[in-house]
Amino acid sequence: MKQKPPAPWFNIANPAIRTDKTVSVIGAGIAGCTVAAALHRRGFQVTVIDRHQQAGQEASGNAQGIVYPKLSARDDLLPRVNLAAIRAASHYYQPFWQAGLGRQCGVLVVPENQKARDDFLLIGQRFADQPQLVEAVHGESIEALSGIALQAQLALYFPTLGWLPPALVCQQLLALNGIPLLQADIASLQYSDSENSWQLRDREQQSVINSETVVIASAYDCKQFEQTSYLPLRKLRGQITQLPATAESRKIKTVICGEGYITPADNNDNHSCGATYNKDLFTTELRDQDHRANLQQMAATDAGLAAVLGQPDSSQLPGRANFRCTTPDYLPIAGPVPDAAAMLSDYAMLRRDAKALITTSGRYLPNLFVNCGMGSRGLSYAPLTAELLANQIAGQMSALAQGEEQHKQEQPEEQPKQQKKQQEELCQAMHPARFLIRDLKRNRI
Ligand SMILES: Cc1cc2nc3c(=O)[nH]c(=O)nc-3n(C[C@H](O)[C@H](O)[C@H](O)COP(=O)(O)OP(=O)(O)OC[C@H]3O[C@@H](n4cnc5c(N)ncnc54)[C@H](O)[C@@H]3O)c2cc1C
Repeated sequence: MKQKPPAPWFNIANPAIRTDKTVSVIGAGIAGCTVAAALHRRGFQVTVIDRHQQAGQEASGNAQGIVYPKLSARDDLLPRVNLAAIRAASHYYQPFWQAGLGRQCGVLVVPENQKARDDFLLIGQRFADQPQLVEAVHGESIEALSGIALQAQLALYFPTLGWLPPALVCQQLLALNGIPLLQADIASLQYSDSENSWQLRDREQQSVINSETVVIASAYDCKQFEQTSYLPLRKLRGQITQLPATAESRKIKTVICGEGYITPADNNDNHSCGATYNKDLFTTELRDQDHRANLQQMAATDAGLAAVLGQPDSSQLPGRANFRCTTPDYLPIAGPVPDAAAMLSDYAMLRRDAKALITTSGRYLPNLFVNCGMGSRGLSYAPLTAELLANQIAGQMSALAQGEEQHKQEQPEEQPKQQKKQQEELCQAMHPARFLIRDLKRNRI
């Protein structure tokens, strides 16, 4: 791994006192519920607050969400985070799959073009010693795995991934851990120095709850809080289509991804396929043109898929539309919330010299954390970011996610020191201060 220049802004100059273990998590999507459960396991007294009565009613509310793997032949930061994420996720969801939520049916990814084919071969070589993680599969074995005849002659197969109903996962994470869900639409957060605690207020300015620590996990709506309004988040609409299974499509055994994705039929005999990407469109109404786009994506993914799905009438199809919360570098945001004004002043010299030697640690808001920016892969990222964040809040730098631990056992030569470095790299890659520093260095802020 290349030696990275020091990044003092990621060190906390003003660690806050912690006297009790009360945490409020704003947002009961997959980001909020996984972090709530991770904190509960560490002995925190957690309350989740959401504007809906039930968990998983917005982006995390589709009937079938896939644990989507995005690897690369290159050993860059984004694929390294993605690798850690799918390792953690495949382990994390085991109990849900075992309890009958969704299915660990494997995920088969077919290449979209020649470049992807070349990459898949390299990925197959790179992970040749880890067939339990991913395998490049060819020819007839593709049909044996997927259950239907596909035209693709090469694919990547991830045997330990699959699909889940995200809302039920969110609800179970709270129920199984006895974490209360409070219904309130939080409008602002105010810190009281004398009480060492945050007060959360609703739209009527009524106090909803006080707690020492707060995790903001409200997806794009992190933008509405003064403390996290600086985050460069985008709201990106997407629609999925639910397709009634046909005699032939019922044979689909794995999730199949390419230009789009399709799941095996669920208990209601529907496949979920999608999804569209519409920026600057802010409606959750279903659109016929998006159903058609999803069907076209299926055909573009593989002609074999189009053949088994028949010709459904798009105007009659059910589906669901909601919003992803995306970041400019496609990585989630998980960590302590910087005092943005203080950072801009402390590191102002980066505007003139991006390589200026600075030793000052960063100033952060007391016991305030954020977990958002899950983009199109919330199910894959959330177990990892939750674990990292809970470790940071609990002041632990111990085992990351058990998926990493499992990997460590598979790779006995790997040193714990390297594991710690990897963990630090993951934290920095997803750090909430990274955008402020990046923009200072580019003299854009
Ligand atoms: C069409 C579509 C298909 C997708 N398919 C997949 C897939 O197959 N696999 C996958 O991994 N990902 C998929 N995604 C992405 C995935 O849905 C998201 O990454 C994930 O759900 C984000 O989780 P979250 O908890 O950050 O946000 P959300 O689930 O949106 O949760 C945020 C919560 O915060 C609450 N909230 C917001 N503001 C406030 C406030 N002020 N006060 C109180 N509560 C508040 C909201 O009510 C909401 O419950 C898809 C997304 C879309 C749109």
